[in-house]
Amino acid sequence: MITKPCDRCERTIEVEDNRAGAKVECPNCGDMNVMPDAPVRTKPAGSTKRPEDLGLPPDAGPEQQVMLVRPALFRSRPISFSLLTVLAATGIVLAAIHLISPNTVPQWLAIVSVLTVLGGGGVIAWWWIQCLSAALEITNKRTVSRNGLFSRSTSEVVHDNIRNVQVDQTFWERIWHVGTVGISSSGQDGIEIQMKKVPKPGELQRTIDLYRSLD
Ligand SMILES: [Zn+2]
Repeated sequence: MITKPCDRCERTIEVEDNRAGAKVECPNCGDMNVMPDAPVRTKPAGSTKRPEDLGLPPDAGPEQQVMLVRPALFRSRPISFSLLTVLAATGIVLAAIHLISPNTVPQWLAIVSVLTVLGGGGVIAWWWIQCLSAALEITNKRTVSRNGLFSRSTSEVVHDNIRNVQVDQTFWERIWHVGTVGISSSGQDGIEIQMKKVPKPGELQRTIDLYRSLD
């Protein structure tokens, strides 16, 4: 048996010997704890940096948030977003001109303008809500994915169990620095956590790699 006081609540955690160095959830408070007598760990190839070197929370110790990522609103659809914004702005201007001098802009055009503003604003609001309803929280122990604004579904992967973090980008996504991030863990087949339209996906991938150990 290996024992250790919990980092947060200080209650003793007991695990079998073969879980030396493993991250264990405290049965009392749920905090993630690294058990002692850890075997020597090697970081992923090319990354010899420790999180502390970059001013990020250390791998050991209590769980802390490292970054919170939401899908990009503008960069994931720059052209349609710009077009809608220009259309809506034109609509506002035309409707305003109609109010000031009804002869310059006829009523039918003013009505079309107002409808355009409402429609364009509605679509942008819908995109915005979609961005707000998805989040990827990276702590020094795990990655948690939350989906849904009202009914929340969450899934999480402990960083030590991550098998692969992959970034997929189309040609345009590469230009706009967005992409799809997929995380697969050693416990499951296929991709366990996925988020599309992630801003700067490479940065996210490197951050998770800092906290992964490839045993
Ligand atoms: Zn605890």
